[in-house]
Amino acid sequence: MLVDDCIFCKIIRTEVPCFKVYENDRNLAFMDINPANPGHCLVIPKFHAADLLTIPDDWLAGSVAAVKLVATAVQKALAPHGLNIVQANGPGAAQSVMHFHWHVLPRGEDDGLRLNWGLQPGDMDAIAILAKRIQGFI
Ligand code: 5GP
Ligand code: ZN
Repeated sequence: MLVDDCIFCKIIRTEVPCFKVYENDRNLAFMDINPANPGHCLVIPKFHAADLLTIPDDWLAGSVAAVKLVATAVQKALAPHGLNIVQANGPGAAQSVMHFHWHVLPRGEDDGLRLNWGLQPGDMDAIAILAKRIQGFI
């Protein structure tokens, strides 16, 4: 089930474009347009639930497999020093889009990234190139 006024539901319905890296019947992965680091992706279920507390278990289970697939591709494509998988619940946890999602965050040992990294628009050409590179490993 999707809703009308959710930006991620609109991306799922292709009403809003995205740099897609992976899709199956239940999940979609695409580049974050405000990347905390190069290669920052989002993995979302094709079901509108706000957060971990409300997503049905079967959608959550499928989402975990998808985030593993995408994280593996990011690791192969970009060879970061590490990866953080981040999932925020509620405004106090800096959740800004109320559709459950995982962040796949490539990390550098000295990148200085903090948990609440803020939203800075990225370079769309650079993001598109990284999306293609990651896609090549899925
Ligand atoms: P949250 O802050 O809820 O944990 O993460 C939401 C993420 O969605 C943010 O990192 C933000 O940059 C990203 N985001 C918000 N709107 C859009 C959009 O229209 N397209 C894409 N690709 N990412 C978005
Ligand atoms: Zn939604």
